[in-house]
Amino acid sequence: MYGKRRFNGVPFFEPVQEILAHYSCPSTCPAICCKIADINLDEEDLKLLRQAPKYKADKIESWNEDGKHYYKMNPPCPFLDLDKCSVYDHRPAMCRMFPFNISIESDVLLLFPCDMGSSIFGDYVQYSYSILKQPVPEKTINSFEESHCSFENRLNEGLPIPMLAFKPGNLIPFEEYLKARNV
Ligand code: SF4
Ligand code: SF4
Repeated sequence: MYGKRRFNGVPFFEPVQEILAHYSCPSTCPAICCKIADINLDEEDLKLLRQAPKYKADKIESWNEDGKHYYKMNPPCPFLDLDKCSVYDHRPAMCRMFPFNISIESDVLLLFPCDMGSSIFGDYVQYSYSILKQPVPEKTINSFEESHCSFENRLNEGLPIPMLAFKPGNLIPFEEYLKARNV
């Protein structure tokens, strides 16, 4: 639920939502994505968050740079309550994209190797093999699986987590594949 909030300006937002509708986070995941990285916000995110009953302005960090306002929440997210989002219906665009992530530097879409990311990746490997006829290279599969398996250790040790660069042009056909397979 996000009322009249428009996410048109968020790159890849709509096709990512279509894909995520085929998946759900396992109940065993302790909301890792809410604990590891800054959550960047824009003005639209702030407008939405302010409507949340549990919103607290002092949880948002803001600064000016080159005449622009920037906002973010530091990890672990201050709105995380017992591993549940206390502002779920009002959560920012970035949260709605998990486990996809947009690389700010290059506008590249990345897939995070958490449990849900791993499920998406598994289906994507099948899609590439059976529909694109362009199998995902063995090296990429092994590297993603290694990232998934070592995920928690890396987090605990504060090491960077390798992510998969997801080709945006494949988002819509991949979602059509999922729909046809009734995933
Ligand atoms: S998106 Fe990934 S890390 Fe976040 S709650 Fe779901 S499974 Fe866990
Ligand atoms: S706003 Fe909610 S979904 Fe987003 S990081 Fe915070 S707790 Fe997680």
